[in-house]
Amino acid sequence: MPPSTPPSAAPAPARPKPSPAQQALRKLGLVRDIDLALHLPLRYEDETRITPIRALRDGAVAQIEATVTACEVQLRPRRMLKVVVDDGTGTCELTFFSFYPSHQKTLAVGARLRLRGEVRGGFWGRQMLHPAFRKAEGELPQALTPVYPTVAQLPQAYLRRAVVGGLQRADLSETLPAGVAPPCFWGSNGLQRAWDLREALQFLHHPTPDVALATLEDQSHPAWQRLKAEELLAQQLSQLTAKRERDRLRAPELRPAPPQGVPGLALHEQLLAALPFTLTAAQRRVCDEIAHDMARSRPMHRLLQGDVGAGKTVVAALAAVIAIDAGWQCALMAPTEILAEQHFGKLVGWLEPLLAPRGLRVAWLAGAQKKKERAAMLALVASGEAALVVGTHAVIQEQVQFARLGLAVIDEQHRFGVAQRLALRQKLQDQRMEPHMLMMSATPIPRTLAMSYYADLDVSTIDELPPGRTPVVTKLIADSRKDEVIARIGAQVAQGRQVYWVCPLIEESEALDLSNATATHADLSEALPGVQVGLLHSRMPSAEKKAVMAQFTSGAMGVLVSTTVIEVGVDVPNASLMVIEHAERFGLSQLHQLRGRVGRGAAASACVLLYATGESGRLGETARDRLRAMAETNDGFEIARRDLEIRGPGEFLGARQSGAPLLRFADLETDKALLEWARETAPLMLDRHPALAQRHITRWLGGKSDFLKA
Ligand code: ADP
Ligand code: MG
Repeated sequence: MPPSTPPSAAPAPARPKPSPAQQALRKLGLVRDIDLALHLPLRYEDETRITPIRALRDGAVAQIEATVTACEVQLRPRRMLKVVVDDGTGTCELTFFSFYPSHQKTLAVGARLRLRGEVRGGFWGRQMLHPAFRKAEGELPQALTPVYPTVAQLPQAYLRRAVVGGLQRADLSETLPAGVAPPCFWGSNGLQRAWDLREALQFLHHPTPDVALATLEDQSHPAWQRLKAEELLAQQLSQLTAKRERDRLRAPELRPAPPQGVPGLALHEQLLAALPFTLTAAQRRVCDEIAHDMARSRPMHRLLQGDVGAGKTVVAALAAVIAIDAGWQCALMAPTEILAEQHFGKLVGWLEPLLAPRGLRVAWLAGAQKKKERAAMLALVASGEAALVVGTHAVIQEQVQFARLGLAVIDEQHRFGVAQRLALRQKLQDQRMEPHMLMMSATPIPRTLAMSYYADLDVSTIDELPPGRTPVVTKLIADSRKDEVIARIGAQVAQGRQVYWVCPLIEESEALDLSNATATHADLSEALPGVQVGLLHSRMPSAEKKAVMAQFTSGAMGVLVSTTVIEVGVDVPNASLMVIEHAERFGLSQLHQLRGRVGRGAAASACVLLYATGESGRLGETARDRLRAMAETNDGFEIARRDLEIRGPGEFLGARQSGAPLLRFADLETDKALLEWARETAPLMLDRHPALAQRHITRWLGGKSDFLKA
């Protein structure tokens, strides 16, 4: 669920304490009238019709109206209330296993009741188990009865009343300017008229019984179309607003020219000359795009995407030296300490020889740092002597004061929350300035998602791997054949190769029977005598992690058993085999990232996906089908597309982390046409009808729109 901020932020003092139901409403994010109006039913119940008992069919859910002819508590085989009702066409027996004295009173002989439930049995004796019941009085409703998603403290009846109230009070006036109605759709009965929002909501909460329920379920009904169109438009409007706001901000113009009086080549030219390889065409292209952005006075907001191993780090290093050459600082933040450390090692190696003659350094900031070292680093950052600052989340902490932050690079950006990205942007002291932002990701964002969630982001793509890589061969193997896999590991290590073994969780979960990294480590150590088998997991103290990584990097350690901490970034070219246990528990993109850890050298590399076969072997088959995509392609984009299909955007983006308000109604795949419409309409509306646009954004996103801006 997206984070929600109440719109009227300042609470009046001495307000009475909210009831549990009111608190529950708040918890569901149902704060404003419009929130209630947009809280749509999960399904509907048809209480508009009474079915004669004689016409009840086995298995159907039906409503009947009948008189109680018998009501008694039975004790055998267990305590229950048995009631018989008769409507003149037949009788039906009702059974209640839990009941209160008040129930017995309502269900007393002679009472006329309206009952609703699932019918069991046929002509020879009909029954209902725990039907809903009430006195038969008042008119039958005209519309289907909505059933809303709710929580324990919030009874359905209370919520229904709240929604009706919200629907009456909410401002549902038209926000779409004349002439920009969303496209119409051909329904089963020809061209449908476009609905307005009020009509659409009225209908979706209380549809008339003649509606084809299928069109509500598959959301092809014009009322649904209108709602989805509005939602997509709100999202596009708020992204575009964010982009335009950013465009008004200023950023330092970072041009790759050495400061006055410093002789020699520009830093980026020196770096290019010192690298042991030449850039690929794709790397050169994205470097140009980035350099072009950085030279402008408006803040860059660019995503650099490229498959694992595509060589994003060197691109970041080149961007960093451009900023440094222009007299500014650069910060690089990575999500894990291991990854940050690898970057640090690499960047120190590349940059310190170039920076030292200018009296500049690369600083390191991480959570697990000694106080004294940290203080020293903070001083370097504050004085500006640290031209580049590499680290984990520690980089954005309050105590970290940059002298002149000109460029912020975030590796594996999807691993960071919005708040963290915002914090980094705010590290440039001057209030009206922002640093340039470069975000990097190995999980490419499929086009529909990019259009929808990252509409205000410019994207550069490295679509080519450095030469000399051998493709990784991927094999799916049932975990019943684990022994063979271990034997193969022995052979690989004997040839001087190194192996990763990835386990999904650290601790044994009894319920799920996941393999335990510690146990696996013990097993492999025993099965592979003479081979050094190391263990790495996220709960280890960071000094220990460091020591293990160092041994693996040096080649002394043959096998590294690890939880997914190695997922991002580690770079050990000699590692040529990766085994992933319980591969079925990972997302495809995650597997792809893991797999990218091998195949970095010239040796033929392989990735073995072990999948659980389960008791019946059935689970094993579905798992294998899903994993087959991994064996079929090495293309990160294709895998991301399939992953998105399987998991939906929420999980794909790690919604809770990113804080991106996910679409509640629209679906990026099925509603492509509406998305296109929203993309075309948003700029037009902002230019010509800014007030309507603002009203539309507020209606749909309330306080959440801020989260789109990071
Ligand atoms: P990723 O894009 O996954 O972050 P890295 O930046 O870690 O990839 O690069 C992977 C490896 O490829 C590193 O060892 C890096 O030094 C090397 N590399 C990068 N660019 C090139 C290139 N153009 N030619 C050869 N090797 C390269
Ligand atoms: Mg990387």
